[in-house]
Amino acid sequence: AILFDKVEKRFGDHVVLHDLDFTVRRGDRVTLIGPSGSGKTTILRLVMTLEEANDGYILIDGKPLTHYSQGGKRVELKEKHKNEMRKRIGMVFQQFNLFPNMTVIENIIEAPVHVLGLSKKEAIERGRALLEKVGLPDKENAHPTQLSGGQQQRVAIARALAMEPEILLLDEVTSALDPEVVGEVLNILRDIARDTDVTMLIVTHEMQFARDVSNRVLMFDSGRIVEEGKPEDIFSDPQEQRTRDFLSAVL
Ligand code: ATP
Repeated sequence: AILFDKVEKRFGDHVVLHDLDFTVRRGDRVTLIGPSGSGKTTILRLVMTLEEANDGYILIDGKPLTHYSQGGKRVELKEKHKNEMRKRIGMVFQQFNLFPNMTVIENIIEAPVHVLGLSKKEAIERGRALLEKVGLPDKENAHPTQLSGGQQQRVAIARALAMEPEILLLDEVTSALDPEVVGEVLNILRDIARDTDVTMLIVTHEMQFARDVSNRVLMFDSGRIVEEGKPEDIFSDPQEQRTRDFLSAVL
């Protein structure tokens, strides 16, 4: 489980997340929705350890993710612990973020070889199976620039899965794609949701996808959760005016 316990995040004087408490259970698929600037991406970046909370804790299965702050005092953790925690988490970004100077298969095997210590042979086997899964078995030696946006994003998904993460963070993974390739990327994610028990934390503007894949939806506004529930309830019968306003703007 991922536990946010009174997490506060500020950028300068701007409080982006206020005293945030929520739990994501193992195997949950949680979609974060809410207006631009409400703090959704920041939550994913905190879990990925790309940002630090200013106060509160983030626990993964009861263990602090990285150093944490308690009453403004910083508690450090060993580098080894932090690396062990990071291995359990994968992220796919809006802008793919593939290494441009590496081929597709090199992108995929980089972390399994250097972080998990797999042999190159094992990592390549794992990578090929994943390329098959994302429908790109013939692109292993291509460079990212030779691929369409949708194909690059499918490689980025394969690269994240090559680490066999327990938690997969998806940050607006279709927002930078041409409309005609959005469906192919979402279908792959639907298959992954169906075939694995990976915990997913999803930020998306694709409400139909959120409905299909997630078992919980958290509605954010100004760094606070204003409503949460099952997708069928949130999308069909929202209780809060802010949720109704948001949904009528995006649906
Ligand atoms: P969007 O849907 O537009 O991506 P979001 O809900 O994901 O929005 P965040 O990206 O989490 O929102 O941003 C929350 C707030 O934090 C915004 O006001 C943003 O401007 C601010 N913010 C995010 N990152 C930084 C940063 N590195 N420095 C300063 N402010 C930041």
